[in-house]
Amino acid sequence: MLKNDQLDQWDRENFFHPSTHLAQHARGESPNRVIKTASGVFIEDRDGNKLLDAFAGLYCVNVGYGRPEIADAIAAQAKELAYYHAYVGHGTEASITLSKMVLDRAPKNMSKVYFGLGGSDANETNVKLVWYYNNILGRPQKKKIISRWRGYHGSGLVTGSLTGLELFHKKFDLPIEQVIHTEAPYYFRRQNLDQTEEQFVAHCAAELEALIEREGADTIAAFIGEPALGTGGIVPPPAGYWEAIQAVLKKHDILLIADEVVTGFGRLGTMFGSDHYGMEPDIITIAKGLTSAYAPLSGSILSDKVWKVLEQGTDENGPIGHGWTYSAHPIGAAAGVANLELLDKLNLIENAKTTGAYLNEQMKAALGDHAHVGDVRGEGLLCAVEFVKDKDSHTFFDPSEKVGPRISATLLEQSKIIARAMPQGDILGFAPPFCLTRYEVDQIVAGVVQAVETVLGK
Ligand code: PLP
Repeated sequence: MLKNDQLDQWDRENFFHPSTHLAQHARGESPNRVIKTASGVFIEDRDGNKLLDAFAGLYCVNVGYGRPEIADAIAAQAKELAYYHAYVGHGTEASITLSKMVLDRAPKNMSKVYFGLGGSDANETNVKLVWYYNNILGRPQKKKIISRWRGYHGSGLVTGSLTGLELFHKKFDLPIEQVIHTEAPYYFRRQNLDQTEEQFVAHCAAELEALIEREGADTIAAFIGEPALGTGGIVPPPAGYWEAIQAVLKKHDILLIADEVVTGFGRLGTMFGSDHYGMEPDIITIAKGLTSAYAPLSGSILSDKVWKVLEQGTDENGPIGHGWTYSAHPIGAAAGVANLELLDKLNLIENAKTTGAYLNEQMKAALGDHAHVGDVRGEGLLCAVEFVKDKDSHTFFDPSEKVGPRISATLLEQSKIIARAMPQGDILGFAPPFCLTRYEVDQIVAGVVQAVETVLGK
């Protein structure tokens, strides 16, 4: 066993952490934490601190930590067959079974699932397949992808471009030119404060239509969106948003990619966010909740409409030139099968719905009237509290005041509760594991009230 100080030193000297201030970390100026074990909704670090993880890692450990059913399935798979590839028609019992389980749960008109490793590579796959699709249909100029500002779709070259957050573009020469952005369905941050929700929805649809007309519908292949915005601020769309957007897309023959990396497999209290909001996507991205992060696995679920064109493509051109060494990795697939079984067996999606409703109600009741709380919003087991400098004039704090990060740090220090300071705005995000209890909701809400009052006063 390594000594703690030795681990610290090795960490600072050797480890390039994602989404981290690299220089401060290397110099030892920012805190680090070494996580040792976890159970249910709690994680424990190597110093014995037990923390309530109200963000389920990165909204991914949906069934909760320490589930022996999934660990055992992974171990059994590793012993029997740790790896074989899925190229040229190869498969394993786990990968084939999981594909059936995913399709059985998917919204209607879905045909096949391609398995990758994480949300970013799944969205890379989606964009490639959309380009291939239009080439096969003889529309080589129909290639641009529309994403929304504040959407999050990964941090690769194409997917970092799709992501509509400045941090992911700045100094990386992104976005690439095939990716364009439109307005986010973020009612609380609308430009025109006089707009009703209905008017704002009409405005978002009109903005999309204007963008399509400016660019030319014959240059636009697809629109990608999370059913409810995640990393961009945890923002459920206003009523009627998806209906209005889908009408525009249909009119211009533009495919819809529903990025369900966060919402897939129960986060909103329904199996898919697409079901929840009446979306009829052509492609669905899945990852996190597919295995509850017990092993890396993602997927691209393709509709009949897209699949038929891909079949035509391979009849005309030979095997599809797309695949990863670890596509449909047997260990990931075994974790996925055990995870989806557990979701059903423990009725966890129903718990996400009811306990999620309780969390949102209690958070609203406790903080809705606070002078610096502008908005409390959520859906299922997603919840966000957004802070403002002045409620009446709708003025936000200057980002340099770091209000969100300070509240999150105070919550951790005072109550040993992890909530995420979302990256753009003073927004505290919650996305706990689905096994959360009402008692734990009460603890979270009490802790958040104390942290908010410490940082911003009563
Ligand atoms: N899409 C959405 C909606 C996400 O929230 C994320 C990650 O948070 C991704 C894609 C990217 O997934 P990954 O980090 O596994 O590449």
